[in-house]
Amino acid sequence: MSPAPQSGTRLVNSLTALSDPTHQEWLEQVLHLALTHRQQGGRPFAALLVRDNRLVASAVNRMLENGDPTRHAELEVLREGCQQGPLAGTIVYASGHPCPMCLSALVMNGISAVYYAFDNQDAAPFGFDSTASYQRLGLALKPPPLPLIKLPSPIPAATLYGDPSRE
Ligand SMILES: [Zn+2]
Repeated sequence: MSPAPQSGTRLVNSLTALSDPTHQEWLEQVLHLALTHRQQGGRPFAALLVRDNRLVASAVNRMLENGDPTRHAELEVLREGCQQGPLAGTIVYASGHPCPMCLSALVMNGISAVYYAFDNQDAAPFGFDSTASYQRLGLALKPPPLPLIKLPSPIPAATLYGDPSRE
């Protein structure tokens, strides 16, 4: 694997200890990565790319670090993951529901499913939802273009998305 960010290295280490992670365990790992990234001053989003229940790549949102609004976690994880092999048939675990830009890339590259913790409704109070973009693009998510599965989160949305200065 190419060098992962510091938080990603810890994540890989902890996942190596798990013999056969469940969807919920992968989700908790991606939330941990997103939360760590936010605590380091980044935007609170992360994604994992998994094939055959093994981690292919992990990434966080790099918008603030790079001033590039396209550097969403899901696109970052595709960029890193495609260096490791074909993307088709992999699973993405994401802290938040993908925005339309990322969802398009996931569909176009044959990702088989996305599991996520927080949907647009959860993210809306914190200004992180992409509902308006979906509406402007006329993209209905029913039926979804690939399985988009929300799993229960062990932390509330406010823990990840809330203003850290108020803690
Ligand atoms: Zn996105």
